[in-house]
Amino acid sequence: MNSQLIDTFGRTHNNLRISVTDRCNLRCTYCMPEDVVFMDRSALLTFEEITHFVRVAAPLGIDKVRLTGGEPLMRRDLPTLVRMLAEVPGLRDLGLTTNGLLLAEQAQALYDAGLRRINISLDTLSPDRFRLLTRREGLERVLDGIHAAKRAGFDPVKVNAVSIRGVTEPEVVPLARFAREHGLELRFIEYMPIGADHWERDKVYFAHEILEQIEREVAPLVPAEDYDPRAPAMEFRYADGGGRVGIIASVSRPFCLSCNRLRLTAEGKLRNCLFALTEVDVKSHLRDCPDDDALAEAIRCNVRDKWEGHEINTSRFVKPLRTMHAIGG
Ligand code: SAM
Ligand code: SF4
Repeated sequence: MNSQLIDTFGRTHNNLRISVTDRCNLRCTYCMPEDVVFMDRSALLTFEEITHFVRVAAPLGIDKVRLTGGEPLMRRDLPTLVRMLAEVPGLRDLGLTTNGLLLAEQAQALYDAGLRRINISLDTLSPDRFRLLTRREGLERVLDGIHAAKRAGFDPVKVNAVSIRGVTEPEVVPLARFAREHGLELRFIEYMPIGADHWERDKVYFAHEILEQIEREVAPLVPAEDYDPRAPAMEFRYADGGGRVGIIASVSRPFCLSCNRLRLTAEGKLRNCLFALTEVDVKSHLRDCPDDDALAEAIRCNVRDKWEGHEINTSRFVKPLRTMHAIGG
């Protein structure tokens, strides 16, 4: 495709993450404060507005969309949005990231609506540690959701774990064994400074440490055949054929120089970086006085204005005011 979304650093943007709600049925400590105040529902983009946005963005070069939140399955009737998006010409890849709590009920409807990619977040298999990390109950429901996704036909089913020093070390082996046993792709995401908690670099359990631990305590890994050093996830497979493992080393190996992502928040703000300090309102071009040319220009401008990258690893880093749940992870 002839993309119109190339920034001043030569990066082509084809990947859009859409938050469909900031609400969530968990309160993960690394993501949001316990006393969070959610947006008014009337502020959220409607399904029609979201689809309209994607219809304008697709001819500019967006061909990959991921629905997220907050918890996207808390948005009523999400399969309807999936069906609407699946029909947008030019969109070739539609995914969802969920905490899995409501997935058992919705997996089949989502698959039937045209969703094919699914990532389920799960940091632990211990009910006690699940409660500590998420400040809620629900591990059994997440596990039911994972099995329902497999049964519905999702392949692969990816399981995401945030990698936090002092938390993740005892989880690596049980999660890896669980993933191998159930044919899931496990992915670790280095803990980033985008939650409500105080973050410091020492709190990240780094990619190379996870890899060493898996090789030492689970089984040897080799780089996957489709390993792309520019992609966010470093992909490995078990040498014995027991599945794949991915690591998103956002802190120890930032991938800003090959970043291809834009983000649309639930209330219609466009962000060109997870850590962006400014955002552009696009709801006015969708709701108040719909104008596709103005919307397309706002998207192009937002890409043109993109900075070189976050500066997590320097003293210049400034944490955005929004926490992860309100941006869309
Ligand atoms: N509620 C859904 C879920 O948990 O999968 C979707 C939204 S959540 C914000 C998307 C992803 O961001 C999850 O995999 C979550 O673990 C991850 N995440 C949240 N806070 C994070 C942080 N501070 N560092 C790294 N990943 C984080
Ligand atoms: Fe909710 Fe997902 Fe954030 Fe956890 S990571 S609080 S499940 S939005």
